[in-house]
Amino acid sequence: MGGFGHESNTFTPFLTHLEDFRPYYGMDTLAAAAQRGAFGGIVATLQRSADIELVPTITAHAMPGGVVERQAFDSLKGHILEQAHNVDGVCLYLHGAMRAEGIDYCENVLLRELRYQLGSQVPITVALDMHANIVAETAKTVNAMVAYHTAPHVDAYETGAKAAEMLLQILKAGRSLTVGFAKLPFLLPGEKAQSAVGTMGEMMQLVAETETRPEIVSASLMNGHCWADLPDIGVAAVVVTDKDAALAQAEANRLAATFWERRADFDFGTEAYPIDQAVGIAMAAPEGTIFVSDSGDNPGAGGTTDVTAVLESLLTQRATNAVIASLWDASAVAACISAGVGGEVSLDLGGKLDTRHGKPLHVTGKVRLISDGDYYREGIRDPNHLVSRGPTIVLTVRGVDVIVTAQRHSYVEPAQFCSLGIDPLAYKLVVPKRGYLTAPLAAISPRAILAISPGVTNCDVTQLDYRRVNRPVYPLDPDTTWQPTP
Ligand SMILES: [Zn+2]
Repeated sequence: MGGFGHESNTFTPFLTHLEDFRPYYGMDTLAAAAQRGAFGGIVATLQRSADIELVPTITAHAMPGGVVERQAFDSLKGHILEQAHNVDGVCLYLHGAMRAEGIDYCENVLLRELRYQLGSQVPITVALDMHANIVAETAKTVNAMVAYHTAPHVDAYETGAKAAEMLLQILKAGRSLTVGFAKLPFLLPGEKAQSAVGTMGEMMQLVAETETRPEIVSASLMNGHCWADLPDIGVAAVVVTDKDAALAQAEANRLAATFWERRADFDFGTEAYPIDQAVGIAMAAPEGTIFVSDSGDNPGAGGTTDVTAVLESLLTQRATNAVIASLWDASAVAACISAGVGGEVSLDLGGKLDTRHGKPLHVTGKVRLISDGDYYREGIRDPNHLVSRGPTIVLTVRGVDVIVTAQRHSYVEPAQFCSLGIDPLAYKLVVPKRGYLTAPLAAISPRAILAISPGVTNCDVTQLDYRRVNRPVYPLDPDTTWQPTP
């Protein structure tokens, strides 16, 4: 057991290196399992069987970002392959959207080599993210796979548990699981596929109904990671049955066909407007606080967090009570630290990494706070929850508090704001660089508006420069047709 995860955005202008991953090796992976992610579900489920001896290999995850350095992928893959000898079964958690230099579908390469090494008789089951990019070969290589059923993701643990249960069904109950797979030529941003609302909500209802049938072991719909300019990218349906390959394929085709019929109906699960309109509506809104997501520069899908378009709009529209979380600009952080708390700085902010979708913005502001950037996840003050983000400052520019970081960061929960002495609900506008809000931010947000903004995670995929993706693909080619494979 083991796994690795990365959502590789091919538009992000820098590579993801080995040191960007947070690895746990061997028995230390069991500590990672305590974090209740998908791997935690795998471990807990397998540990309940007293006669199963666990062989932990590696778990390693990195923040979504640019394509992974080749030697980093080779290293991660090597840790799993080296230990996968004399085992009775394999259960992995793989995010499913990793691309490395020269390798378009990393998980597929790992699983292909694993299958070659282990032979056809050793079962392999896999848990995946809903934003996995799965290719047909993978469905033929593994015995079973299952993806998260929720976005925002709140069922990672259960998904890992399901993958482990399917392995146990093969090993202990002698079931012969088989995978049906169908793929749609559809670039669908996650922001238009939240699992609890809209058309995706209806599709996941269909998945739930499918899974209640006794002959269906598991069903999944993956909307994929659309910000990857790879030939075979899109939405995938996966259905697992016991022995009945024809039924598995027919059911995968049925889910995919329904999805395809509804392709024009997928829309944002929240209010969504171009930037200036989003900011204007939020400023005039009756609610005390409005979260305005800067969706085009979302580090949760590979954004650089240095696109300044929303900050520019806030300043132009004279917003005076707003916080931006956050902008990545190491030189600006250094300048603010040398000015000191209370010091005034005049500098070019952001626009240095994603030079394609933004430019530096010249601002004059006052340094309000300098922090070491440490915070405790979920606000739990114990060493396992400590995250060190590196130097972080709050720069006030005409009433807009801009959190500026020396490393790229993702603001996903209130504890991060609290660590800087910031109460998000004290602001009229909170601008996280996110798409849809994470569950902890959604829980405190009185009203959420999505700003359709530029960057490498632009929700309007027609604005991005796709060159390698197989054409036709919807919606770049609106007349794209699709037929299920028999
Ligand atoms: Zn995801």
